[in-house]
Amino acid sequence: MWPGVTRFSLVCLRFDDYHQDVDNETWVDVLSRYDERGLRGVVAVCPKYEGERLSADVVEFLHDLRENGWELAQHGYEHEDVGEGRGGPLYDDRSEFAGLDYDEQDRRIGAGRDILESHGIEPTTFIPPWHEYDRTTARALADNGFDCINEGRWPVPRTVEGITLVPTHVPAITPYMVGAGVVTMVSHPQLEDYPMKNADAVAGYEDRIRTPSEVVDWWRNRSTTGRLVDAAEPLYSLYSH
Ligand SMILES: [Zn+2]
Repeated sequence: MWPGVTRFSLVCLRFDDYHQDVDNETWVDVLSRYDERGLRGVVAVCPKYEGERLSADVVEFLHDLRENGWELAQHGYEHEDVGEGRGGPLYDDRSEFAGLDYDEQDRRIGAGRDILESHGIEPTTFIPPWHEYDRTTARALADNGFDCINEGRWPVPRTVEGITLVPTHVPAITPYMVGAGVVTMVSHPQLEDYPMKNADAVAGYEDRIRTPSEVVDWWRNRSTTGRLVDAAEPLYSLYSH
């Protein structure tokens, strides 16, 4: 029996791939049920999924959620596989960002942000498609007004190039297994047989729920561990890219 969520956990509930051609009815239904249970999450909004620009009618209900404390994050730009992910057994070899030069990453991040801003959404959290990004992505994000990437495979955040990485989970160890640290439970509402699974996983620990931007605020401004780990960044940057 795995410990799952405990009082030593902080949990982000994340809903991936909201975009123009999404099954809006299912999304509204599922996210409303989370909302009615008093749960809050982060919605990964793709500005121009496979070339389809987000329109005003589909973002309406996102604004309602935001008023209830939900966070709206930018999920890539076009969700195209034009980069090169880390690959291997633990990571994806697809990416929209990793491996591209700074100018192209900056263009995609900025163009996506412009679309979201045209709908009144000002994201501070970025969610890279297929979980893949590189240090250049972090630099381009910092230059575009972001301070968070909701991705990372250690159970604690860390800050790189001015961007705080809010972890998803340790590779091959699901968020339902670890009883401590920061985890993100990712779901895709229109693809799940039982979309309330993550709501059940946090039952009794609703006070451990944070949005990624709330984790960033805690990590940077209130956590002693956060200050210590971030102060060591120049040291471990020697060993990672
Ligand atoms: Zn995605």
